[in-house]
Formats: sequence, C-alpha cells, structure tokens
Amino acid sequence: MYKLWRTVIAGMALMVATMGATMGASSTISHAGSVSLQEKLAILKDHYPKLIKQVRGNHLVLSNDAKLVIDDGKKKNHQAKLKNPDIEDTLSQVYPMGRCQVGTPAVNFDPGRIRSDALMRHIFGATKNAARGQMRAVNWFGSKVLATKRHGTDKALEKVRDALGKLPKKFSKFYRKTAGTFNWRVIAGTTRLSVHSFGAAIDINIKYTDYWRWAKGKPGNVPRYKNKIPKEIVDIFERYGFVWGGRWYHFDTMHFEYRPELIAIGRLAEKRGCAT
Ligand SMILES: [Zn+2]
Repeated sequence: MYKLWRTVIAGMALMVATMGATMGASSTISHAGSVSLQEKLAILKDHYPKLIKQVRGNHLVLSNDAKLVIDDGKKKNHQAKLKNPDIEDTLSQVYPMGRCQVGTPAVNFDPGRIRSDALMRHIFGATKNAARGQMRAVNWFGSKVLATKRHGTDKALEKVRDALGKLPKKFSKFYRKTAGTFNWRVIAGTTRLSVHSFGAAIDINIKYTDYWRWAKGKPGNVPRYKNKIPKEIVDIFERYGFVWGGRWYHFDTMHFEYRPELIAIGRLAEKRGCAT
C-alpha cells in the first residue's frame, strides 16, 4: 500500500512539474509574431509611467491605487469584449504595422477598439470637465482643434500636421478640413465613451470617409470593406502614435486616435514576423 501511494504521489508530482513547465514556457517563449501578455502589459505600463504603478499578479495597479483586473477568466465573444473588457481583452488584438498590414480586416478584427473605460478615464480625465481641463487648442491648417495635453497627445498631433503639410498638395483635400477632435459623447449605439471625449482622437474630412454604420452594417456583420484614405496619410498618423479606424473590421476610415502603446506592440509583432 505504502509503495502504491508513493508511486501515485510521485506521478502527481511529475504532473504538477510538467504543468508548471508548460505554463512557464507559454509566457516566456515567443512564437512568430506573437507578443506575450506580460510583454504587452510592460509596454502599456512604460507608456504611462506616472499613471500605472505596477503590474501585480492579476491586477494593473494605477497611480491612485485603484486596481484593474487583467484577466477576469470569462470566455467572451467579440461583442462582449467590446462591452465589458478586462485589460487582457483590450490588448488581445495586435495592431498591424509595416509589412503586417496586408489585406482587409478579418471579421471582428478591431485592434484598438476594445478599450477599458476605467483606464481611459484614468489616463485622460474621469469627467467631461476633468478631460476638457487637460486640453488646448492646436492649429490645424488654419482652424483650431482641441487636443489633450496628456501624454503629449497635442504635440503628437502637431507632428502629424507638420508631416501632412509636407505631402504633395493632392493629398490635402483628405485632411485639411476635419470633422473635429473633442466631443464628450458615447460611441453610436453603445454606452461607452468615444476617445473623442478625451480629446485624443481626430476625424479627418468626412467627405472621403467610409464608416461601417453608414454602410448599413450591424455589429459583427459589416458590409464589404471600403476605403478612400491614401496610405501616405495613414503612415504619418501611425508614425506618431495614432491608430487608424481603417484597420478595423468595423471600419471608420476618417478616425485616428492616439494609442502609442498599441503602435509599439504592433512594431514588436512585426519584428517577430507578424501575428497570424
Ligand atoms: Zn472618430
């Protein structure tokens, strides 16, 4: 009996050891194109060093000691992730950069569109007044647009403007007129705040845009992808940390928002050969 128990216990110990090794391996070995959750969290934290204190266990600890759950362990479909994401969900889709930018977005591929409302409010301002108080007017080809000063968003937008101004004149019709930046509002058809609420997004000329809702799309069921915005313009926004709504299945091609951490994760994935 004693011998049998010893064998059982030894077997169990081996199993636990194997499981441990496998779990450890999954967080340290990077497959081609993949960036581990720990790496994504480190990049996120590095971009907001004053606002994110640390990654501790299953929590992102913010500067005010509030804790956001990294992985709530719930299985969610895409719509549920959009509605009630944990931090892992917000980083689950890697924004494609450089040579990873091939083809049109796959069904429900919306990198950057899954956002943590709590984190966004912590970064940019929890209320309309708090967010508005962080903004200043930026000159946009003769008109004024409001941009948040948080994390250099306003300065990044000025760099985009200066680079756009150096493109050949034929491109100017796409961006000189804008449909605006700051607008404290929820995303159409949802109760979630748009990034425009924080003065960290800009819509360029509405005349040349394609938007899944206007194309009579339904969430999760969008008509054929369309875009008229030239790559030269998109490249400039991305170079300075803005993600583009034209890379989303739920496409919104006039929309750019400042998410430099997602661009950084995308660049790392590109170096590794692109996520599949
Ligand atoms: Zn927009």
